[in-house]
Amino acid sequence: MLKLLYQRLEEVLKIKKFDTAIIGAGPIGLFCASFAHLHGLKTVTFEALKEIGGQPKLLYPFKEIFDIPVFGKISGQELTDHLIDSAKDKTTFQLNHRVTSIEKNDQGFIIDNDFQVKSIIISTGTGSFSPKKFPLKMDETIEKRVHYFVKDPSHFAEKSIGVFGGGDSALDWALELAKQPGTKINLIHRRADFRGLESTLQELKCLKNVQVLTPYLPKTIAIRNNQLDIGLKQVGQTELLQKQFDQIIVAYGFRANNSIVRKWGGDLEDGHIKVSREMETNIPGIYAIGDVAAYPGKVPVIGLGFGEAQIAVTAIMRALFPEKTLTIHSTSI
Ligand SMILES: Cc1cc2nc3c(=O)[nH]c(=O)nc-3n(C[C@H](O)[C@H](O)[C@H](O)COP(=O)(O)OP(=O)(O)OC[C@H]3O[C@@H](n4cnc5c(N)ncnc54)[C@H](O)[C@@H]3O)c2cc1C
Repeated sequence: MLKLLYQRLEEVLKIKKFDTAIIGAGPIGLFCASFAHLHGLKTVTFEALKEIGGQPKLLYPFKEIFDIPVFGKISGQELTDHLIDSAKDKTTFQLNHRVTSIEKNDQGFIIDNDFQVKSIIISTGTGSFSPKKFPLKMDETIEKRVHYFVKDPSHFAEKSIGVFGGGDSALDWALELAKQPGTKINLIHRRADFRGLESTLQELKCLKNVQVLTPYLPKTIAIRNNQLDIGLKQVGQTELLQKQFDQIIVAYGFRANNSIVRKWGGDLEDGHIKVSREMETNIPGIYAIGDVAAYPGKVPVIGLGFGEAQIAVTAIMRALFPEKTLTIHSTSI
């Protein structure tokens, strides 16, 4: 009996406790984490990917954004860097963790059996992203040289790089990596026409260290002489062109999946979660902000999402700590 009791106690102690869980570390979840910290909330932030930043980081890191308050213009990457800088050390990040289960209990909610939280803020945007994979079988050694995200372009200096894809991301990454010292870039696309910006393509074609190969499909991959050896088949031909790279970037795009939100039981409207003026869903204690939230007049932009994070955190403070006098202005905190 005593043994069982100890076992139960151990199980309970393993559960990690937080005031608030933020699900999704896109721009809105990231801002929310730093704003919640400012008000003294202990938060855990879940992100399905190992990269944080959401759409601006994954889909348009090099595009300039013109409607973020205070910044006249800022690239998706720069915005992400600022948001990460503000949020780091202010929340417990759980990366590579796609939240699948939320269960109600007498202390609030249990997330994925492991995290006890008093409230939840859902900021899953358009859904959990997963990169479209390179279509060849690869072992671990090869996979280490295949990248779906580029964290730091300077790591690719002095390397020969294959960039696969035909959209803006492929073109933008090829251009960014071509600027690094000593790089040799091959941009490889399965069609003759690119979907990405024509002016970027023209810029690339003028660079001495860039070769554009179309229409080619990757057919074989192996490591030879400490390099990736990739067999490329020209569409309509049979022979393979063998190309050697130190690393490859796969920019085939991302799939977003928000179907999990349905499982959590909130009221939905076209796949988005309906919220009140306080950003609360129909389940007390669960809030939704950013692109995933729906209410009359909603505009899915970052500036508005920042405001929604402030409304949700304020509502949570009032609900969790009704005895506290809430300081609204950060200048007075
Ligand atoms: C090409 C393009 C250009 C844009 N330009 C602008 C612009 O100029 N100005 C502007 O204001 N907005 C712009 N937007 C829109 C803007 O990017 C979105 O409004 C913003 O990204 C929404 O942020 P979010 O944090 O709500 O969601 P997202 O950015 O979608 O982030 C959601 C995060 O949640 C994670 N996630 C999802 N499900 C789970 C789960 N179950 N568990 C854990 N993590 C999960 C995802 O992996 C993702 O990282 C643009 C969008 C695109 C695609």
